[in-house]
Amino acid sequence: MATDAFIGLGSNLAEPSVQLAQALVGLAALPDTELVAQSPFYSSRPVGPQDQPDFINGAVWLRTTLSPLTLLDHLQGIEQAHGRERGRHWGPRTLDLDLLIYGNETLSGPRLNVPHPELPNRDFVLQPLLDLNPALTLPDGRNIADLRRGCPDNQLRKLHPVAQTPLPGE
Ligand code: ADP
Ligand code: MG
Repeated sequence: MATDAFIGLGSNLAEPSVQLAQALVGLAALPDTELVAQSPFYSSRPVGPQDQPDFINGAVWLRTTLSPLTLLDHLQGIEQAHGRERGRHWGPRTLDLDLLIYGNETLSGPRLNVPHPELPNRDFVLQPLLDLNPALTLPDGRNIADLRRGCPDNQLRKLHPVAQTPLPGE
């Protein structure tokens, strides 16, 4: 039986929305997986060191029969294929794909923690999840909308759905 899984996308390369667009193509092509919906993209101020570009974030809703670890393998494959600057050894990673939620499962292991442990603290993860499914809850019963109201502000700005540029007046 297929499981609903939610993936967080993030990048702060010079053209991060291109990274995310390419990642969406990779996610749509995953085996045994249907891409149900993609969220709008948001820009956000970085968490931690401020001397780096703003991030672009989004999320997708998948329905998959892949196991959580196999799905993680595929996410890491897409990160490798699209996410690194070409030609630089040990170059900075420019695409982050996180398995945020996998059905109603709670997983804790050396390679994978689900739900993603930082999910409750990140508006740039919670807001795209809310856009995808306003009724979404974590396995422990916490509601995404409640978490969104209580989490720190990273100055989210919604990007235009097609051009992925700031909307006028925002
Ligand atoms: P972060 O996303 O926290 O900034 P990375 O993308 O570099 O860090 O991930 C580091 C490791 O986190 C990966 O090697 C992966 O095995 C592990 N990991 C644990 N839980 C998850 C998850 N839910 N989604 C993605 N990676 C995860
Ligand atoms: Mg990651």
